[in-house]
Amino acid sequence: MSSSLVEEATRIALQFDYPAEQVQRGVAEYIRQSDEGLAKEGATLSQIPTFVTAVPNGTEKGLYLAVDLGGTNFRVCSVQLHGDTTFNLTQSKIMIPRELMASGTSKDLFLFLARQIEAFLRIHHNEHFEAHLRRKREDRGEEYLFDLGFTFSFPVRQDGINSGTLIRWTKGFNIPDAVGHDVCALLQSAIDDLDLPVRVAALVNDTVGTLMARSYTSPGETGTLLGAIFGTGTNGAYVEKLSNVSKLENMNDSHYDTSTGEMIINAEWGSFDNQLSVLPSTIYDIELDADSNNPGIQMFEKRVSGMFLGEILRRALLDLHTKLGLFKLSKTSKVSIPTDSLLYRQWGLDTSLLSQVEADTTKQFVDVKAALKDHLKVENPSDTECKAVKILVHAIGKRAARLSAVPLAAILIHTGKLDTDDVVDVGVDGSVVEFYPDFETHLRGALREVPQVGEAGDKKVRIGISKDGSGVGAALIALVASKDQTLVTPNSK
Ligand code: ADP
Ligand code: MG
Repeated sequence: MSSSLVEEATRIALQFDYPAEQVQRGVAEYIRQSDEGLAKEGATLSQIPTFVTAVPNGTEKGLYLAVDLGGTNFRVCSVQLHGDTTFNLTQSKIMIPRELMASGTSKDLFLFLARQIEAFLRIHHNEHFEAHLRRKREDRGEEYLFDLGFTFSFPVRQDGINSGTLIRWTKGFNIPDAVGHDVCALLQSAIDDLDLPVRVAALVNDTVGTLMARSYTSPGETGTLLGAIFGTGTNGAYVEKLSNVSKLENMNDSHYDTSTGEMIINAEWGSFDNQLSVLPSTIYDIELDADSNNPGIQMFEKRVSGMFLGEILRRALLDLHTKLGLFKLSKTSKVSIPTDSLLYRQWGLDTSLLSQVEADTTKQFVDVKAALKDHLKVENPSDTECKAVKILVHAIGKRAARLSAVPLAAILIHTGKLDTDDVVDVGVDGSVVEFYPDFETHLRGALREVPQVGEAGDKKVRIGISKDGSGVGAALIALVASKDQTLVTPNSK
């Protein structure tokens, strides 16, 4: 039985192979779908214009505010940009009361957010705040001391750098009267109700924040081309020629600066190839999707990101468990698995288990055994069982990393960046790219197999982790926005 276990694991692993020829087909198709997304609404790749028209080079200076509403917590921070690629960040994190998330009005929620900004200013920037109040008492006119970048991680239709209409709430939020309204205007109005010296200067997507933060902190003055996230989900934002964004012609009531001739595009690449014309599929991918709450959607993301890799592995392990007795007691083994093991629960397996298993270099499978015990309550697995697990993990993780090369190669080719610059800088963020062993090595392996990139192209690509995208990145977008003459300010509305 034991040798057949390894054989079967090897057979399954083979189905996760993603060879060079498929990578190349994927890249060609990505370029095709991305052109389609730039030309019209409703394509699989959304290619959303962000109205951010410049990336920083590290010399930017000033004090900016950033807030982040996207889940359980509301973050408020101030960022002091020193102008030499470094910064200081001060932040506070506040739990959002349940009743404000679902039963109140939008006014209640945004007033709560404005109060947190006020409290933050009083604690961390009280001298500015007091001076503002004094000027106000003396009636010396009103001014906005702080420009603020607003990271808002819900679906919005953006129609300017600091305006966007809420399409729907997700992640447990439900305040119907906010839907269809400009979330920046809602926040600004609450800020004005409290007389805070703050202007909502920019609406920010987290991938754009990643791109901006990396562009500011990366060595040298070259701008960053691409910001990419490989965390719970996967997505990227990149610098596009304005003239390529042909669908902007149909958005005639939008305001943006055209002087740079560029605009950052939020690709929403999690939904690349939802029609599965080129993406690889195993039986586990197909069943994972069918049993998910959004079948047919985010198909690229479902093969790449942290939310899904654990579940793919769980389904493959369960298959070996049912068919060949993986983790089941036999005459020769002492292995045990309780009935409440997360192996039996959908979404039960965290992707950090894959990293732990992949990182194991011991002959005795020390880390694999620890991971199986911690995550699945599996005791005393045999070396053969550990080996089978390792084979599957490696196959799933490697395919995810190689797939991640597809949008990257496509954007490198489409933008022509490899022909022009010496170094092409890419900022990445997220636990999968940060912690999965050799993720970048496998990604680069696939990148080199694309003829238009090759060894030479790969050498030009510099990949760096970009931290604090929603703080530093949002501050930088507020900075860019505050310099933008076409900005919709509270007074010009
Ligand atoms: P977010 O995407 O919410 O900003 P992260 O970047 O931390 O947060 O990504 C969280 C995702 O990464 C989860 O799906 C989690 O399962 C996965 N994850 C957490 N730790 C690791 C790890 N060590 N290796 C690989 N994946 C991990
Ligand atoms: Mg993140």
